[in-house]
Amino acid sequence: MNIVSIGAHQDDIELNCLGTLVKYQQQGGHTFTNVVISNGDKGAQYDPRTPYAEIARIREGEATAVAHGLGGRYVCMGQSDEYIRDTDEARNWVIDVLREAKADLVFAPPPVDYNTDHMVTSQIAFHAVMLAAVKTIFTAHDPLPKTPPLYYMDAVTGLEWQPTHYVDITGVFERKCELIRLHKSQMANMQTSGGWDLVKYSQVVGAFRGIQCGVEYAEGFKPALAWPRVHAGNFLP
Ligand SMILES: [Zn+2]
Repeated sequence: MNIVSIGAHQDDIELNCLGTLVKYQQQGGHTFTNVVISNGDKGAQYDPRTPYAEIARIREGEATAVAHGLGGRYVCMGQSDEYIRDTDEARNWVIDVLREAKADLVFAPPPVDYNTDHMVTSQIAFHAVMLAAVKTIFTAHDPLPKTPPLYYMDAVTGLEWQPTHYVDITGVFERKCELIRLHKSQMANMQTSGGWDLVKYSQVVGAFRGIQCGVEYAEGFKPALAWPRVHAGNFLP
């Protein structure tokens, strides 16, 4: 499958979906496109004197390194961090990314989350997934033959969100943590803003979702139950 994962910020896919992507990678035969809407330029709370362009550049490098770790690619729309808008341009940009990747499966943030960037990105993804197959919407690449299934990732810390599907990531958990540590700037940023870092987060939330389904570590998902995004069969590893 061609798997497209969409996040608002450079570490969103990593927090709630990366173990699952590593499992797909181990299966072999899949392609990975990691898509981020914002440029991440507000992500230097550990040193607010850092120029926006500087932290954006650092985060691009970190997210690119993780995508390369999956054998995939990273693309960024570059909207202003914390001010993401659902615009015609944003929809068309995501539509074209889905078309270029020939997406068979899409992950996106849930419609309810702690940050409006996440919620707006969820909305952009929800529309773009369907419109990518609409033949009267024109972008650089040809429409998809069929609307791909859309799976929502977990909300940050799992608040106000109940997954319906779980992926056992116990066997790839160390690899998830190894890749997530590549986000050096965000390891420091989340420590400053939340008192935890990305690895601690993955341990706590992974174990929390794991205990719900009888494994050590899990990631939780919920398919978007809206026509024509629903497909027969299970797409999760
Ligand atoms: Zn985020």
